[in-house]
Amino acid sequence: MREVNSVTEIFGSMVFNEHVMKERLPAETYAALKRTIEQGRSLDRGIADVVANAMKDWAIEKGATHFTHWFQPMTGVTAEKHDSFLCPQKDGTAIMRFSGKELIRGEPDASSFPSGGLRATFEARGYTAWDATSFAFIKDGTLCIPTAFCSYGGEALDKKTPLLRSMELLNRQALRILRLFGDTQTAKVNTTVGPEQEYFLVDRELYEQRRDLIYCGRTLFGAKPPKGQELDDHYFGNLKPRVAQFMHDLDQELWRLGIFAKTEHNEVAPAQHELAPIFTTTNIATDHNQLTMELMQKVAARHGLVCLLHEKPFAGVNGSGKHNNWSISTDRGVNLLEPGDSPRENAQFLLFLAAVIKGVDEYQDLLRISVASAGNDHRLGANEAPPAIVSMFVGDDLDEVLRAIETGADCGPHDKVEMRIGVHTLPHFTRDNTDRNRTSPFAFTGNKFEFRMVGSAQSIADCNTVLNTIVAEELSGFADQLEEADDFEAALNDLVRRTIAAHRRIIFNGNNYAREWVEEARERGLLNLKTTADALPHLVSEKNIALFAKNRIFTEAELRSRYEVLLEGYCKTLHIEALTMLEMARKDILPAVLRYTQALADTALKKKQLCPALSCGVEEELAGRLSTLAGCLYDGAAGLEARLLAAKECGDSRAQADHYKETVFPSMQGLRAVADELEGLVAKEFWPYPTYGELLFSV
Ligand code: ADP
Ligand code: MG
Repeated sequence: MREVNSVTEIFGSMVFNEHVMKERLPAETYAALKRTIEQGRSLDRGIADVVANAMKDWAIEKGATHFTHWFQPMTGVTAEKHDSFLCPQKDGTAIMRFSGKELIRGEPDASSFPSGGLRATFEARGYTAWDATSFAFIKDGTLCIPTAFCSYGGEALDKKTPLLRSMELLNRQALRILRLFGDTQTAKVNTTVGPEQEYFLVDRELYEQRRDLIYCGRTLFGAKPPKGQELDDHYFGNLKPRVAQFMHDLDQELWRLGIFAKTEHNEVAPAQHELAPIFTTTNIATDHNQLTMELMQKVAARHGLVCLLHEKPFAGVNGSGKHNNWSISTDRGVNLLEPGDSPRENAQFLLFLAAVIKGVDEYQDLLRISVASAGNDHRLGANEAPPAIVSMFVGDDLDEVLRAIETGADCGPHDKVEMRIGVHTLPHFTRDNTDRNRTSPFAFTGNKFEFRMVGSAQSIADCNTVLNTIVAEELSGFADQLEEADDFEAALNDLVRRTIAAHRRIIFNGNNYAREWVEEARERGLLNLKTTADALPHLVSEKNIALFAKNRIFTEAELRSRYEVLLEGYCKTLHIEALTMLEMARKDILPAVLRYTQALADTALKKKQLCPALSCGVEEELAGRLSTLAGCLYDGAAGLEARLLAAKECGDSRAQADHYKETVFPSMQGLRAVADELEGLVAKEFWPYPTYGELLFSV
């Protein structure tokens, strides 16, 4: 392959983007397609045929032979079913064809995707529909069409459909607010997202020796190595050559797909790294993040590495998250979460800010649920990630302004004026790193919010669907009130003041890792949903069903189906982990311990034969400890197995999830503790797995 050096030359080279469309489509087709993209109009079949044909020709020139509708089922990963462009002719030859119909709509047999009971088996086929706002691209010789995935009844079966619905909702409600402020120019409001992705890289040969990594993506056993992340010497450290090559390759692949990979660096834990892209429109950022995760794994394989996206691959060192940087901006490039230069812009900013504050407070549970998974439970609440308590950081400067608004008092020592919204300008809030609170789950960082609870393996579609929906809901309530007001300015002032006063409890600028915060949060009445099993039932509370139904994001049936899928996913994950532990404990660890005990006993016997006076104290003591622990391991495995079996008797999925949380999981922890103690005692040549030290310092 020719080595391509110019980034600008390769950037987007595998994407059917606007540049390519303009070049290859007749002017009127291009104009129609652009209207579809910008205004969400449906595409005429005739136009779709022209677009499809141009796409096919372009894709074939790039070496593609197949096409696929690329979609995002509720599994959280992407799915594709490949069809070739090949179309047989009567005379025994074949031509390459791709019709508008095939572009717009697909019908994958989708009966094996989770639907939470939404799709009865007799109508197993769902359909996929092109999301024209996200460009088609070529991956592995296949033209990929980003699509939404629905049942025949029109119910969403994927993560893209609700996300698109929420973006449209936010657009409508934000426009109402902008009109109230006299903005007649803005035609479209979008949310934007830049997700920072954390991951681990380990050596493939070592990985392949551990079934826990292969089946579960995380280690289920493993004693702490002598060195972990104590010295903080990995964070932003020099890239090792193999990692640097991986990142270089990954960048090239991502750039080809038009993904704005920007920053790559080492993270806190050994073997941990991060990639941050430049932000873009939310649904495209979501598509890109899914592709990024996929490519990280593919490119790693080429370098003899494995990329671990799990939230907690290793106990005792940091886990991985995904910081979801989120903002709202107009088609004219105005960031609505950036304080402006005029009193009018500032008033508008404060109203949007108030909507976010109110939304986060009223729907803490939904934000928590949007990041709930068995994997992420290991992170949230540990001293490395935000706690499971949702709160907001606004920084001291902005907090001072909010307090001044709330009390109608002076705006702090800097600015001795009464804070009246719509009259005074705001200071520009510092975006300096020093001012950043790294412990907050939801931090205002100058012109965007950074939602830090998201797990590294999760799709960002869920949290952004929730963010868009709750903020749109509050904006809609605000617009209802302000549209009725006789004196807009007075009503606005009053509204912002009341909102901040009513929802101040959600703002916390202190240390979220502190023990005292848990107590204080309880006093403030904030939720502390520690595990996925605790959080999920809130999804189908009356308040949340009403929110989603009113705003047409999820019908009650859709929401309940998602609830089922999430509960099931939680139980299945823990089930697989427990089974893997049993297999490892019984087939590898226990036999290894017994072999080593035997070796000790043989040594002692031979020593006695050689000379009865030789001391066998070490052999005896060690064999004794090993035998005791082996007994604990054996019993622990039996106990875990019994608890796993009991899960079947639990009745509904909610009771089952509670059983996994309360009974199975502690039993897994107990088994692990015994095995990890054994690992510290058993000689290296007998231990069946690569150690933490080897895994973490392998690359
Ligand atoms: P850092 O957090 O490392 O200081 P930045 O603040 O520049 O870096 O950005 C972190 C992430 O936030 C990047 O992915 C960036 O693209 C994204 N980001 C910046 N501005 C916005 C915005 N208006 N909307 C959404 N994401 C944004
Ligand atoms: Mg960040």
